[in-house]
Amino acid sequence: MNDEADNALLCHRCGAVLRPGAGNWYVVRVEAFADPTPPEIATDADPAETAAEIERLIEQMRHSSATDLAEQVYRRMTLHLCGRCYAAWIENPTG
Ligand SMILES: [Zn+2]
Repeated sequence: MNDEADNALLCHRCGAVLRPGAGNWYVVRVEAFADPTPPEIATDADPAETAAEIERLIEQMRHSSATDLAEQVYRRMTLHLCGRCYAAWIENPTG
């Protein structure tokens, strides 16, 4: 078993080996969360309709795993990118 190869840090985009201390690669932290604004509830809504809508949403959630629900709300990840991949990514991060 080759420890060096097993522990190698690789560029998440192209797979290039990244050498700690070389100063030519980047750590990119991504944090994504769902719209934090509370949902709008019409003040003149029929309470029976509102209760039915809440029931419908709860029923929908019953069919999702806790992990799925958590991932729909919040994701955080750390990416390692070589200098070349970083330069391409930072110019067009949503591309
Ligand atoms: Zn790369």
